[in-house]
Amino acid sequence: MKAELVSVGTELLLGEIVDTNAEYMSQRLAEIGVDVHFRHTVGDNLARIVSVLELALSRSDAVLICGGLGPTQDDLTRESVAQVTGCALVSDPDAETHLREFFARRGFTPTSNNLKQATVPEGGRLLDNTCGTAPGVLVEHAGKVIFAVPGPPPEMREMMQRQVLPILCERFGEQLRPVFSRVLRMSDIGESTLVAQIDDIISGQTDPTVAPYAKPGEVTLRLATKAATEAEAVARFDAMEATLRERVGRFIYGVDDETMEVAAGNALRMRRATVAVAESCTGGLVASRITDVSGASDYMLGGVVAYANEIKQRLLGVPGEVLAEHGAVSEPTARAMAVGVRELYGADYGVATTGIAGPTGGTEEKPVGLVYVAVADADGVVCNEMNWPGTREQFKQRVSQTALNMLRKRVLGIEVARL
Ligand code: AMP
Ligand code: MG
Repeated sequence: MKAELVSVGTELLLGEIVDTNAEYMSQRLAEIGVDVHFRHTVGDNLARIVSVLELALSRSDAVLICGGLGPTQDDLTRESVAQVTGCALVSDPDAETHLREFFARRGFTPTSNNLKQATVPEGGRLLDNTCGTAPGVLVEHAGKVIFAVPGPPPEMREMMQRQVLPILCERFGEQLRPVFSRVLRMSDIGESTLVAQIDDIISGQTDPTVAPYAKPGEVTLRLATKAATEAEAVARFDAMEATLRERVGRFIYGVDDETMEVAAGNALRMRRATVAVAESCTGGLVASRITDVSGASDYMLGGVVAYANEIKQRLLGVPGEVLAEHGAVSEPTARAMAVGVRELYGADYGVATTGIAGPTGGTEEKPVGLVYVAVADADGVVCNEMNWPGTREQFKQRVSQTALNMLRKRVLGIEVARL
C-alpha cells in the first residue's frame, strides 16, 4: 500500500519552521506498514497544491495532507481537495453547529472565514479535532483516499493516532506489512572499513536488508524486514545477526536502544563499580549522557566541569608544573585529571577529557580537534590522543562517545585501543 505526504505551508518552504509533522507521520505510517514513497512540501498556493495532489493521486493509494486547514485566506487545503476531486465544498451541519457553539461559549460570532472550517468536499467527511477548531477531512475518490489533517503538531498527532491510522488499518488491513528493524551499534571501526569487511553480505542482501549509517563517533548497521509477525522478523534478524557477528562481532557494542551510555552503564553495574568524570572540552556532556540513563545512580557518583586551569589544579589536583610544561590539552594533564577526579569522588573509575574544540584556539602544534581522553582505575591510567576537526557539536559528541567507550572497555577488560 503506497502513500504520499504533502506538507502545506509557505513557512516550511522558507525554512522558518522545520517539517516535524512529516517526520512524525512517516514514522507512524511505517509502523503500521504503509509504504511512504514520496513526500512533498508546497506553499500556500491553490494551483501548486492541486498539481501536487494530482501527481500524488496518479500513483499512490493514499495521500495525506497536513496544514492549510485554518480559517484564513492562505489556508487552501480544502479548496484544493475539492478541486482535485471535482466536488463542491458544502457545509457540514454538525460541524457548523459545533463551531457556532465553540464561538458562542467564548462570546464571539463566527465569521464566514471561520465557517469555512465546517465545509467539506461533497461526499467526504470531517474528522473531529479534539485539540483545536479545524476538523480534518477524509475524502474517497476514484479508489484513492485523501486525508487532510491540521498543521499544529499536537492536533495532527492526536488526529493521526485516533482517526487516520485506525481508518487506514481497517481499510487496507491485509495489504499492510509493517517494517521491523534491528540496529547493531558498532564502535572502533569506520564506515568504509566496515563496509569493506561485509561487502558481500551487503551486496547479496535480500531479506532482511542491511544498511550502514555513519554517525558522530559510531557506525550502525540497520537490519530491516517486512514480516507478517514480529516472531518471523526476529527469526530473520537472529540469523543475519549471527552471520554478521562471525565477521565483525568484536565491534558490536550494543543492539537497538543500547546506546554507548547504556552499554557503559551496564558494564559498571555488572561489576558493581562506580565512576566520576572530569570534563574540560566536553563541558559536562559525558556526565549528561551517563545520567540520561534511568538507574544511573547505581554507578554515577558525579563530575567536575574543569574548564579553567585553576579548577584543574585546585579541584582535581593537576600539578601546576604539568600544566605549565605540557599545557591544559596534553596527555599528562588528561591523565592527572582522571586520577584526580577518581580520588576526589572515591570512585572506581575516573574519566577525563581535554581538547581543542575550535573553531578558534588552535595552533600548529596543537590544532583544532586535538583531544586527549583518559580513564583511571586501581590498575593505572589509559589515555588516547585523537584528532577530530569538525563543528563544536560534532567534536563534543565524538569525544563523549570515545570517553564512554573507553570506560566501557576498561570496565569489561577489553584492551583500550585507539579509535
Ligand atoms: P496551518 O494549519 O497550515 O495553518 O498551520 C498551523 C501551524 O502549525 C503553523 O503555523 C505551524 O506552526 C504549524 N505547522 C504547520 N505545518 C507544520 C509541519 N509540517 N510541521 C510542523 N509544524 C507545522
Ligand atoms: Mg498554514
